Amino acid sequence: MSTPIDPTLAIQKEHLMPITPRPDICFTKGKGHYLYDQSGKAYLDLMQGWAVNTLGHSPDVIQKALLDQSAQLINPSPAFFNKPMINLAATLCAHSVFDQVFFANSGAEANEGAIKLARKWGQKHKSGAFKIITFAQSFHGRTLATMSATGKDAFAPLFEPKVSGFTKVPFNQLAATEQAIDEQTVAIMLELIQGEAGVISADSEFVLGLAALCKQHNLLLIIDEVQTGIARTGSLFAYQQFDIQPDIMTLGKGLGGGVPISALLATKQASCFDYGDQGGTFNGNPLMCAVANAVLSTVLEPDFMPKVALMSQYFQQQLTALSKKFNLGEIRGKGLLLALETPQHCAPDLVTQAREQGVLLNAPREHTLRFMPALNITQTEIDRCIDCLSGLLNSAA
Ligand SMILES: *Cc1c(COP(=O)(O)O)cnc(C)c1O
Repeated sequence: MSTPIDPTLAIQKEHLMPITPRPDICFTKGKGHYLYDQSGKAYLDLMQGWAVNTLGHSPDVIQKALLDQSAQLINPSPAFFNKPMINLAATLCAHSVFDQVFFANSGAEANEGAIKLARKWGQKHKSGAFKIITFAQSFHGRTLATMSATGKDAFAPLFEPKVSGFTKVPFNQLAATEQAIDEQTVAIMLELIQGEAGVISADSEFVLGLAALCKQHNLLLIIDEVQTGIARTGSLFAYQQFDIQPDIMTLGKGLGGGVPISALLATKQASCFDYGDQGGTFNGNPLMCAVANAVLSTVLEPDFMPKVALMSQYFQQQLTALSKKFNLGEIRGKGLLLALETPQHCAPDLVTQAREQGVLLNAPREHTLRFMPALNITQTEIDRCIDCLSGLLNSAA
């Protein structure tokens, strides 16, 4: 059993707004694939800050980047250039089809920027077109505009009136998407794997079809890679596994390897903000950019992504065997963003029971387990995860 959080914290925690049900645990340390609670109990972490800790907890390269950069320069203000910010923008552009970058602090903020950029482009180049097509079950963030863009049913009644101008279409349905396009449409925005929806991949024909529709109707293609970017799906960006050239891409989560930084990237043609349109106090601060540079240089080492592919293959094989043995459902996803279908309503219980045994998993739906480990995971951790699930399913049977 896990040790409950100590009495002082138990009282003080009431001062936090209760925005999500949290287990009665307080983590005090993280190293690599493990988190440790107040009593020192270790938990194998396959959530990793919600697909954020690309290199695991507190890796040496991030500690070093934070230490070195904090001794050098923390924040000169967004009104000035700084070296880590320039280097990071150049690296991201060198490894993608994009030409210019705006840095922000969260995925939602990057997506908010993408929505603004598309609307700006519509004003400048498409007679004021402003509507953006987004998809059912999609997730783009929790600011008012990004909640409005999001296709989660649970968001629909919240915080009305929402930001208007988002047309929702069923995912993977090209004909319905084409029908939704009108004179006022400026962009199509999607995740190539819908993470929060339960790791649902866009079909390749659908993605190619969307790219063709964008060309045909002069629309911007916006790819939300907040969850799929930075090698999570095996390539640096998920769009690189499709023969497409998006106009705008957003990054978050894995970019900072645990620290808050996100990015809005655009091609020269789409990058059309005027002075004053976009900004933010912390944008491009050298401390966070230095960390992102350290994450990227690690991920771009020649043997890093091939290892992600190998571990992905191994993990999928083990999950497939588990699924066969216990009569579970399909395995989905790419790289190290994977999901396993469980019988209805089982997933949250499995998450709770696994946590008691010291393994942290996530259930984005009541019948789906999601795995988003650090990208440097090895067979040892994968085996431990499978053993834990196997034990739980055995005792349930
Ligand atoms: C997590 C996520 C976001 C929101 O990012 P935050 O940093 O939580 O604001 C947006 N889009 C996708 C696809 C995500 O997975």
